[in-house]
Amino acid sequence: MTGPGPDPLTGAERARAEQARGFMPIDEGLALAAAAATADPGLGPFLEVGSYCGKSACYLGPVAARAGTVLYSVDHHHGSEENQPGWPHHEPDLVDPATGRIDTLPQFRATIDAAGLGDVVVAVIGESATVARHWRTPLGFLFIDGGHGIEVVRADAAWLQRVAPGGLVAIHDVFTDPAHGGQAPHDALYAPAVAAGGFEDLSACGSLRIIRRR
Ligand code: SAH
Ligand code: MG
Repeated sequence: MTGPGPDPLTGAERARAEQARGFMPIDEGLALAAAAATADPGLGPFLEVGSYCGKSACYLGPVAARAGTVLYSVDHHHGSEENQPGWPHHEPDLVDPATGRIDTLPQFRATIDAAGLGDVVVAVIGESATVARHWRTPLGFLFIDGGHGIEVVRADAAWLQRVAPGGLVAIHDVFTDPAHGGQAPHDALYAPAVAAGGFEDLSACGSLRIIRRR
């Protein structure tokens, strides 16, 4: 596969990512892809927490493919708290009529297949904390974009220890000002990781933070 030049994605890849359903502003998605393009795939594969309908995987998958690695995409596919009925990010057509529960897996699969990423994006279906507890492969690139409740975010912090030294971590929805969004990713993931000295701050775009494991 040939690289897209100075941009992390080709025009077609970028268009597909922009059109995919989900929660990732274009500038942050491109910054995410650009950060992943600087990760060393020799350190380990890529992994994201929070697949939803495959939008961030459309930004990261082509980068993983060009790096000769894969993107594991972890999600129980039953939605976060804010995706449930009555909450602001609820999308009623994602409810499985047979169970009454949100099920984003069919949309995710359709998005990944349509993007031609079936060989590179590997769905891991389950509770993030459970997968993290048993995960042993060091990661070259980690993207955390799962639930935003404080308990869920605290549990997702376990993923930071799965990153290889020198590996990169992207964290989404980091807001320093409570007026802009919930504080859990800032308070329970980003700030402690950097304050404890195990991770160095690299860059930021919107609510996206990129840090590197020392
Ligand atoms: N990255 C996506 C958005 C993710 S939304 C995009 O680009 O559009 C957050 C996702 O995290 C939801 O799909 C939800 O099901 C998942 N999630 C929330 N808490 C989780 C948990 N504890 N374990 C696994 N997945 C979880
Ligand atoms: Mg997000």
